[in-house]
Amino acid sequence: MRQYEVIETKETQKKVKKIICNKCGKEIPTEKGEPRADFLSVEKRWGYFSEKDNQVDSFDLCEECYDAFVATFVIPVGE
Ligand SMILES: [Zn+2]
Repeated sequence: MRQYEVIETKETQKKVKKIICNKCGKEIPTEKGEPRADFLSVEKRWGYFSEKDNQVDSFDLCEECYDAFVATFVIPVGE
């Protein structure tokens, strides 16, 4: 989940203020809008052959929650 700060200039910009893990709520450390820890960022636009035609879902997971998530897979993640 991203929280943005709106910067008023000639063209309005959005700068990442906070990145929060959707699963545990922990904040991913950032410095000047840049992440200082690695994390998983997912953005998915569902297509016509789904029940969510054109819906866009997005979430961020910290490394700990990513590890816990992929540990539930029947087939391990590939390299
Ligand atoms: Zn987390």
